[in-house]
Amino acid sequence: MSNHHKNTYDIIIIGAGSVGVPTAYFLAKAGFKILVLESFPSVGQASNKHAIGGIRATHSDQAKIHLGNQSLNVFSTWKQTIGDDIEWHQGGYSFIAYDEKNALVLKDLIHWQQDYGLNISWLEKNQLLEHIPNINPVNLIGGSLSPEDGSASPLKSAFAFHKRAVEIGAEFHFKEPVIEFISNDHQVFGVKTTYAEYYSQWVINAAGGWAKDLSKKIGLEVLVEPDSHEAAITEPVTRLFHPMIVDMRKQPGSENFYFYQHLTGKIIFCMTPAPPILGNHTIASSDFLPRAAKRLVEIMPILKDIRVRRVWRGTYPMTPDGSPILGMIEGLEGFILAVGMCGQGFMFGPGIGQVLTHLLLNELDEQDKIILEKLSYHRDYDTVEKLK
Ligand SMILES: Cc1cc2nc3c(=O)[nH]c(=O)nc-3n(C[C@H](O)[C@H](O)[C@H](O)COP(=O)(O)OP(=O)(O)OC[C@H]3O[C@@H](n4cnc5c(N)ncnc54)[C@H](O)[C@@H]3O)c2cc1C
Repeated sequence: MSNHHKNTYDIIIIGAGSVGVPTAYFLAKAGFKILVLESFPSVGQASNKHAIGGIRATHSDQAKIHLGNQSLNVFSTWKQTIGDDIEWHQGGYSFIAYDEKNALVLKDLIHWQQDYGLNISWLEKNQLLEHIPNINPVNLIGGSLSPEDGSASPLKSAFAFHKRAVEIGAEFHFKEPVIEFISNDHQVFGVKTTYAEYYSQWVINAAGGWAKDLSKKIGLEVLVEPDSHEAAITEPVTRLFHPMIVDMRKQPGSENFYFYQHLTGKIIFCMTPAPPILGNHTIASSDFLPRAAKRLVEIMPILKDIRVRRVWRGTYPMTPDGSPILGMIEGLEGFILAVGMCGQGFMFGPGIGQVLTHLLLNELDEQDKIILEKLSYHRDYDTVEKLK
């Protein structure tokens, strides 16, 4: 066998993260010969392992609702159908409101979300307090509840998708960064890594926070900026609540704040810094914990003495409108983008893998078409989603 033939695949995926790994699994399952190239020594070592594990179909954008639903089906049934424990917990999501403005936004959205088939309802203050008894009642108006959303372990999920993708024939090369493309002005034929050249009919850029620099190598301007976010985890305590609680209020230094109680009883919390802190930073700041802990205790005073075990920092690969960029590029054959996942790449990974599989099999359904149209590279980037 010549080297060229040996190094030829149907599809090369750049990046073994939240998106690249499940995408490899679904494409391999459909019979494609897959190579995944990854800079790090194992799966999920960049943004993927920094995610706190929230998975929801509760979005305010049609494409994201479809993607979220497709992913939820995969995460929630993975243990029964495939056998690996990925720590799926169907705790639901609750967006809470302490002011009329946010209450109105959420209530308006619920009607629209119900029209798209989401199981979501509005709970007035007392109903919400029955569901989440320890939430601060002062000025609480109510909140949404979507009981079918949940959480899972990002690393365990990446390991499971990887293991099953390898079993069905996908190849993964670790510690092998892509450094160049083999291409002309109209077509990508393959990639060069630090070790070798590989050829394929399609190259999928799933390089997360590095997607922009990588795409520049073929002259493509991709609007993805790594934006750093931090999270923390506490000691375990007795079960206090189930849903991921999202507080959309802005405070000095922060925007959204969200937290949930993990299967093990630990509380995991995360905050959107304001203004954004751009860059692929992974060293925790001294600013995050005092601010985030204050927000946690304001919403759930019973946690005032809980001890925080660890803080970490990672990146959201952000786009200007807060939505991923997915699909083919007009005028450039052989290249697909699956990038710009913002704060939702873990929850969208399996959905994206399935849409791309349908695309490459030429078997798109109506929902896939909506997703690809709304998340197209060629869209306007000026409409920002309400629940981004
Ligand atoms: C604190 C925090 C909390 C979060 N919480 C959630 C959450 O609850 N739910 C959720 O859905 N999302 C969450 N996210 C967001 C989520 O982590 C990201 O959206 C997601 O991981 C992005 O997936 P990705 O596959 O695009 O990138 P990654 O997972 O970073 O994968 C990209 C991979 O590409 C590789 N790569 C890059 N360049 C090259 C190259 N040239 N050659 C080879 N390999 C390359 C990288 O090494 C990396 O492994 C959170 C993020 C943070 C920081």
